[in-house]
Amino acid sequence: MVMKLVLLGPPGAGKGTQAQEISRRLNIPHISTGDMFRAAVAAGTPLGLQAKAFMDAGKLVPDEVTIGIVRERLQAEDCAPGFLLDGFPRTLPQAQALDGILAERGIELDAVLDLEVPREELLKRLTGRRVCKSCGATFHLLFNPPRDRDRCDHCGGKLIQRDDDREETVSRRLDVYEEQTAPLVEYYRRQGKLKTINGNQDIPRVLEAIGEALGENWR
Ligand SMILES: [Zn+2]
Repeated sequence: MVMKLVLLGPPGAGKGTQAQEISRRLNIPHISTGDMFRAAVAAGTPLGLQAKAFMDAGKLVPDEVTIGIVRERLQAEDCAPGFLLDGFPRTLPQAQALDGILAERGIELDAVLDLEVPREELLKRLTGRRVCKSCGATFHLLFNPPRDRDRCDHCGGKLIQRDDDREETVSRRLDVYEEQTAPLVEYYRRQGKLKTINGNQDIPRVLEAIGEALGENWR
């Protein structure tokens, strides 16, 4: 059974964990944008070199380069049984381009899984990290809490929150994600491909919900 999937979800939704498991269960490659770029750059393909030039200059890689890299990646032999795209598409033009790439080969996406987690919960997950000023140990108020909220378990040093983990920063990242992704969600809903998954439950339950959404293709 060939399964061609896209996984959507905001930062903190647990996409990486679910992607690994889906990829293993369905025996399809997990294609994350980051890995795909690194591979193209490492292989020194013409598109990889173009992407590298933009990244080295601290610029966003333009859509046409990104889309070219995706097209090349999806032609690789390991994508014959299907694929799980993670981090692409991110914008509506990218989604339309992806449909175009697949249409060239007479195929289309089977489903788009959208992991939904309430903003409150995402904020808790994404702002919970604490780092020891003295020894660098990291904790998480939810997932790996220190015995004392402000002190390091190991050395007693002061625990601080990095700027990246502050609520304002995290809130902005979530806003950007929502703005970019809302049109995508709508696009896939209209195509009848959107499967909304409740990501606000423990990891095995989320996986179970994904299995139910994929129906008979799941094993
Ligand atoms: Zn410490």
